[in-house]
Amino acid sequence: MSARDWVEKDYYRELGVAKDASDADIKKAYRKIARENHPDAKPGDAKAEARFKAAGEAYGVLSDPEKRQQYDEARSLFAGGRFGGFGGGRGAGAGAGGTGFQGGFDVGDLFGGGRGAGAPGAGGLGDLLGGLFGGGAGTTAGPTPGMGTRPREQRGADVETDVRIDFAEAVGGTTLPLRLASPTRCGTCGGNGARPGTSPRTCLTCGGAGVVSRSQGAFAFSEPCRDCSGTGSIVDDPCPECGGDGVSTRTRTLTVRIPPGVDDGQRIRLAGQGQPGQRGGPPGDLFVVVHVNADDLFGRSERNPDDLTLTVPVTFPELVDGTTITVPTMDGKVSLKVPAGSQSGRTLRVRGRGVRRKDGRTGDLLVTVELAVPSRLDKAAREALDAYAKATADHDPRAELTRRAEAAARRETAS
Ligand SMILES: [Zn+2]
Ligand SMILES: [Zn+2]
Repeated sequence: MSARDWVEKDYYRELGVAKDASDADIKKAYRKIARENHPDAKPGDAKAEARFKAAGEAYGVLSDPEKRQQYDEARSLFAGGRFGGFGGGRGAGAGAGGTGFQGGFDVGDLFGGGRGAGAPGAGGLGDLLGGLFGGGAGTTAGPTPGMGTRPREQRGADVETDVRIDFAEAVGGTTLPLRLASPTRCGTCGGNGARPGTSPRTCLTCGGAGVVSRSQGAFAFSEPCRDCSGTGSIVDDPCPECGGDGVSTRTRTLTVRIPPGVDDGQRIRLAGQGQPGQRGGPPGDLFVVVHVNADDLFGRSERNPDDLTLTVPVTFPELVDGTTITVPTMDGKVSLKVPAGSQSGRTLRVRGRGVRRKDGRTGDLLVTVELAVPSRLDKAAREALDAYAKATADHDPRAELTRRAEAAARRETAS
């Protein structure tokens, strides 16, 4: 990516967000565009694919706080007209900036081109733009004296994608194929943008540095080379696959291993599976956000996600007398003793029937018994219940509550 791209492209507009949009808004906007224009969703739609690519590029910059800041600063710098556009400046003017305007303002140093003139204040902004240009010089430094360059490799952007799995897969772990359409280093040209068998040549205008300098009165300006768009090299015969930008959209299938016990919303990192790096930089990472479908029976304990939860309906006599119930687990069934006199809502623990982590940690199954109240009773049951109610009329489970309520009412009257 050239410096010129950086400042000319409006990544915010690409994603349809405000300049001060939050990370979350940016991500949301990107995901929407990516979803709607995904090559899988609109196969053969070149417009959608271009949009998909452009949004990916914009997101790659805006989702990285450091890159976003660099981008913002570069844009405000160029928007302010301080560099007088990209015009002019043919001929690198060997060392023109090197003699600089001592004690003054040598814009050349802003680019951190290693000019070494020692103007005070060099460095800060130079680093900024040096990073921005991603080592704009690409190839080795040209013959221009004093135009030392520091080709900088740039790590590829991280990519995020979503998968949805079932509850049982989340508990037990799973592997799944993941189809990804992402910009990737063009396989045909190896990323240099030139037709196979040819190679890019060093830009003569800037000598491969990607920047040129020009003098204007007492000031020496450096600006991105116009002829090579700041890349330092020129492709005469572009690669037919990628059209010369060295990047193509490729659909690849990866196998993602989801470990047992993954939580809903958890991000799994696949190192090196993100966007390719530039100029020899390492690739970014791929983050897979896992969404877990809820199960109609089982849940995860909030206190310890390795514990699974299950609610089991029981009858009143079962609670009173105790019983042994058969309950399902994620793997097979178990018998569970409900002690006599259990209250509705009591939770019983079945050891070892929760999530089994790879490291050997194992969660439990927490079974909550819940009184199932019949919605209707036949005659015999009705009579039995009436008899039961009569026989237990003396037992008031709310005696203490009633006493407290009356005490509170008395206090209220007294005051
Ligand atoms: Zn190519
Ligand atoms: Zn050039």
